[in-house]
Amino acid sequence: MGTTVTPLIDTFGRLADDLRVSVTDKCNFRCTYCMPAEGLPWIPSERTLGFDEIERLVGIFVGLGVSEVKLTGGEPTVRRELPDLVARLHARFPAVTMSMTTNGFLLDRLAAPLARAGLGRVTVSCDSLLRHRFAEMTRRDALERVFAGLRAADAAGLSPIKLNCVVIAGTNDDEVVDFARLSRETGYQVRFIEYMPLDADHRWERAKVVPSADVVAAIDRAFPLLADAGGSEPARTFRFADGAPGGVGVVPSVTEPFCDTCNRLRLTADGQLRACLFSMHEADLRTPLRAGASDEELEATIRSTVWAKWEGHKINHPDFERPDRSMSMIGG
Ligand code: SAM
Ligand code: SF4
Repeated sequence: MGTTVTPLIDTFGRLADDLRVSVTDKCNFRCTYCMPAEGLPWIPSERTLGFDEIERLVGIFVGLGVSEVKLTGGEPTVRRELPDLVARLHARFPAVTMSMTTNGFLLDRLAAPLARAGLGRVTVSCDSLLRHRFAEMTRRDALERVFAGLRAADAAGLSPIKLNCVVIAGTNDDEVVDFARLSRETGYQVRFIEYMPLDADHRWERAKVVPSADVVAAIDRAFPLLADAGGSEPARTFRFADGAPGGVGVVPSVTEPFCDTCNRLRLTADGQLRACLFSMHEADLRTPLRAGASDEELEATIRSTVWAKWEGHKINHPDFERPDRSMSMIGG
């Protein structure tokens, strides 16, 4: 009999069992809603966690009840030797569901090695199905390459493939039905994400947020939807009423925040723990880790950070303050 783990909970009774691990803050895209064209001051390599450090910290989180690990960034696939990290984590924590969020640009080469190493699933970001618009939104003319990556992920068995689409009013909101059609044709699960004030250029404005309810209504008119019951993800998900493959979901972070059921934690590439995307506070795990802290000491920091998690972000409050880090520096 193993020892019982006291789960990671906060003062609002929420359980934290889903960890997003950013393996780099660097990226080969420059999505307008995330990064500036010229990039950002990158985290110096000496402050970036090494694979041994990531493995040790993931081990501590798993010991505290984390059951899902998602690799993210920046762009996780630009981290050298990523399949080695996946293989190490999978070998040590075979029961943990491991997935990755990626822009898909390097998946044509990496999908097979990552699947062999033990990655279970991928979420690929794609905001337009039109070549020129995709190029404008990501500042890379790479739609074809991303689709090659999606096909490689499918062939490697990294399914069900999820496709993340950030919907921005006046930019790509006329494509939501096309994405739903793609889902029906391919089986990809499309997730429409509301645009959040986490872009490094500070161009976010409320008028550019397309309410998820409008996205669902537009798709439902073209392809009637049935809401899925239950489910643990923050996305609200739907299947097609006619039984077609695929399905759609919405992540209404701005118009209908789901903070009361949030189960996520984030570890940045430089070893800072964030209990919320919008946290103004982060707990430094790298410094004590490198100074020889014991597992118990690191556990205590993790527990107290989760315990102190605030009730929710304040995007809809007049006193909302943006965190210093933008999305690619946190790990979305
Ligand atoms: N580079 C990978 C990718 O793009 O999938 C992983 C990191 S990216 C920061 C994670 C997710 O955050 C992507 O799906 C991206 O579209 C989303 N994202 C980035 N900036 C956002 C913003 N301002 N609002 C909403 N979602 C955003
Ligand atoms: Fe890179 Fe992902 Fe940010 Fe786009 S959303 S710039 S792919 S980190």
